[in-house]
Amino acid sequence: MATREREFDRHAKRRWTAQDFTGALVPLSTSVAVAFFFADGGATNFLDIVALPYGVGVVSGLIGTNLFLVMMVLAARVPIIDSLFGHDRALELHKKLGKPVLYLLIVHMAALIVDYASRVNTDVWSEIVTMLGVNDLLLSFLSMGVFVLIVITSLVAVKRRLPHGVWHAIHLLSYVAMYLGMFHQFTQGTLFAEGTAGRAYWLGLYLVATVSTVVFRIILPVLRSVRHALVVESVVVEGPGTVSITMRGRELAAAGFQAGHFAHWRFLAPYLWRESHPFSISAAPTDDRIRITVRELGDATSLLQHVRQGTAVWFEGPYGIFTESERTTSRVALIGSGIGLAPIRALVEAMDFRPGELTVIGRARNESELFLMDEITRIAHAKKGIVYSLTGPRGRRTPWLPWAESERGVSISALIDKQSEVDFYLCGPGAWMNSLVADLRSAGVPPHRIHNEQFAW
Ligand SMILES: Cc1cc2nc3c(=O)[nH]c(=O)nc-3n(C[C@H](O)[C@H](O)[C@H](O)COP(=O)(O)OP(=O)(O)OC[C@H]3O[C@@H](n4cnc5c(N)ncnc54)[C@H](O)[C@@H]3O)c2cc1C
Repeated sequence: MATREREFDRHAKRRWTAQDFTGALVPLSTSVAVAFFFADGGATNFLDIVALPYGVGVVSGLIGTNLFLVMMVLAARVPIIDSLFGHDRALELHKKLGKPVLYLLIVHMAALIVDYASRVNTDVWSEIVTMLGVNDLLLSFLSMGVFVLIVITSLVAVKRRLPHGVWHAIHLLSYVAMYLGMFHQFTQGTLFAEGTAGRAYWLGLYLVATVSTVVFRIILPVLRSVRHALVVESVVVEGPGTVSITMRGRELAAAGFQAGHFAHWRFLAPYLWRESHPFSISAAPTDDRIRITVRELGDATSLLQHVRQGTAVWFEGPYGIFTESERTTSRVALIGSGIGLAPIRALVEAMDFRPGELTVIGRARNESELFLMDEITRIAHAKKGIVYSLTGPRGRRTPWLPWAESERGVSISALIDKQSEVDFYLCGPGAWMNSLVADLRSAGVPPHRIHNEQFAW
């Protein structure tokens, strides 16, 4: 293996090891929580049918709450998590955990209501009324109500019908649910009683979730936005309903932006200041300039087509791992569709290539939607790369390709040789990427050589 290949390989292996260690913290923290209960004599509840609801209730509550806190950390945009797994994958796991956590907390609640009712020889409804009279338990019932609302509004069918802002506002109530549910954990039972190691550990988990959220979602973005003082410098039309916005700022290198990163941008202009939206950077960043390219899709992206010079911009980021740091080998294919070409443009410029190592494929319905393709072609040719521009309606056999190529039986193997030795960076609409990934997998490209960025969560 050549020295350069070895360096890519070593770098990738280091990252995978770090991923494994960090990923192991999730089951580890869950086991520690359950171990505290068992060390407190909790195991005996599983040997006695009468005590079983108590055992099941406590264990499901511990696992559910632990995973709920993990969900909060995953959404907190913690740099180490983001740089190892990517923001989208962290959010994917956050999303996946939502329903199991809800089920665990429902089991927790139901089992403990049954247990408490049987202890005092009453029916469950009377027991619920009694529990609602206890402040901390009332708060935990409210917490459960909020959590149910969040999970329901996050179901794909419901979320699709809600404006993103409304869904986001409801989702922010997760923090309220987290704290409403906290008090009864310390006042009911002996597991987290004052002075116990369990209490210190459990408070520690809450602290980690809270500090991560406050530091990485509030303090750091505010400090960075103030320090780098971004303002809109120019707005250039790139194609139908699409503009590139260049922002000027100071000491941007310190913010750590790399080609392929995205950030959440908040433009301090009428209507726009209320929401931040994610956009990828579309040119290699410099110490005083950063550029994004925005396609009109809804309210905010329409207003951004006409954002004024001098508008101040706040940001949260940079985020994502669609960057050179994910590269595992020297040959690279950068493939983008429509506005997905924005981060591809930045990567073409910033990545280091030797002649013959780079292939770029731009895909769109028509020429006018091959955004930034002129710039991409010019830079790629200067780096002795190969460029394909593919336009036309979606193919039938291979939907990521245009109809004509698809009917001729073209696939990724016809465009790039020795595909299994190439790193593929893909960015475009979800269905298009799924079709491309299927083509890559059938051409023998291993999953670790496929890097993709989704423009939707
Ligand atoms: C990681 C990432 C990178 C992106 N990069 C680019 C880019 O370089 N160029 C570009 O044109 N677009 C990009 N997008 C898409 C862009 O963020 C949305 O088009 C934009 O937020 C839509 O806002 P709107 O108010 O115009 O439309 P709306 O009508 O409010 O929403 C349209 C769609 O965008 C989604 N959306 C809206 N607001 C957000 C938000 N705050 N966070 C996540 N999704 C949201 C909604 O779920 C909906 O599906 C990117 C998205 C992501 C997730």
